[in-house]
Amino acid sequence: MFQTIRGTFDVLPATHESGGSRVPGTPAWRHVEAVVRDVMARHAFEEIRTPALEPVELVARGVGATTDIVTKEMFTVERTRETYVLRPEVTAPVMRAYLQHHLGARGGATRLFYLGACFRAERPQKGRFRQFHQFGTELLGTDDARADAEVIANLVAVYAAFGVTGTRLRLNTLGDAADRPAFRDALREHLAPHAADLSETSRQRLASNPLRLLDTKDARERALLADAPRLTDFVGPEAMDHYHALKAYLDALGIAYVEDPTLVRGLDYYTRTVFELESDALGAQSALGAGGRYDGLAEAVGSKAPVPAVGYAAGIERLFLALEAQGVALPEAARPDACLVALGDAAERRALVLARDLRAAGLTVDVALASPGGGRSMKAQMKAAARSGARHAVLLGDDELSRGAAGVRDLDAGTQTDVPLDALAGALTRDSGNG
Ligand code: AMP
Repeated sequence: MFQTIRGTFDVLPATHESGGSRVPGTPAWRHVEAVVRDVMARHAFEEIRTPALEPVELVARGVGATTDIVTKEMFTVERTRETYVLRPEVTAPVMRAYLQHHLGARGGATRLFYLGACFRAERPQKGRFRQFHQFGTELLGTDDARADAEVIANLVAVYAAFGVTGTRLRLNTLGDAADRPAFRDALREHLAPHAADLSETSRQRLASNPLRLLDTKDARERALLADAPRLTDFVGPEAMDHYHALKAYLDALGIAYVEDPTLVRGLDYYTRTVFELESDALGAQSALGAGGRYDGLAEAVGSKAPVPAVGYAAGIERLFLALEAQGVALPEAARPDACLVALGDAAERRALVLARDLRAAGLTVDVALASPGGGRSMKAQMKAAARSGARHAVLLGDDELSRGAAGVRDLDAGTQTDVPLDALAGALTRDSGNG
């Protein structure tokens, strides 16, 4: 028997357990996706869909050669001459699409959102999967600090639309790319005498990407960093003005934030603003979503001209965890209005036609079908009708056909009435609102 591979899950019509996680059913996913799309529409973000496969170089350059994603989490796909990657995130692909299709040619800012699967070969655990789903926005072609505020306001609005409370927004500025080298040098200088106390990973990061050291979870390393040079002290005046402007906009919007100088984010492309929305209700994987400004990404992936931009990505599985923790009810499968039960050859043929006509009239209609070896008895079909969850069983036999009618049994109440076939759609619709 084949099974889903580690860190992936099926989404079934009904909610189920998979590898210790509760996987909501497709109606819940559709609901969540619809709410996200609705918020995006009101914020004037337009949907973009990019391929699951991208050139590996796009991700290596876009996300950054020294990041965890690129060094150990990519699912690559080899073809004869090329290597592709299953997208680990969508910002670099959106930037590729923006450049490829000249979406900025009209001038002004371009507001895009996406929703779809991402792939990372991480160690699966609660809230962490190898195929997971992100929604996010990208606001491209503007360095306006109001764009950063708009993106954060959008992130906050999505969780508000779901009634998620108890979240915390962490905020920081990384300054401009030009501000980094001096900080890197100062940090290296500060930590060099303590190299022996650093983990192997941190020693490597000190050499390749010292910013990443700042968000270490290791208590001893945190202590070493307590009196280390602060990134904030190296941020240039322009980036600092941008940051102050953003904070004033957030204040005006009444969006609370906590300034956190250790927030650096795992991806290389960030400049200036970085932020993360977290919730304690999620356990170890506390991040609902995160993002920032990435003014250097376009050039990193081959653009001649810079494209200042800001965006975020948020995990749908994490959103489900937050909703579950708050006991928010999500839709389960809708009940069919009717399930057709037919006795005899003529009635069986008539039932298929009737199903077609009722569906054309807008009703949701199931047909009781025979199981292998189960037979077509009235009893077997009524069992099938009950299993379908339908509100009504519509019974058709020779007797009913000769009268041009059907028996309509209310499967909740157990009552049955005779309804002329041409009045059936109306009768089933009228009765459908209850329960
Ligand atoms: P990142 O692109 O790493 O900033 O991730 C953005 C958001 O995507 C995170 O805040 C999570 O909500 C979600 N996310 C990232 N990686 C995973 C994963 N492996 N499984 C589930 N959700 C994830």
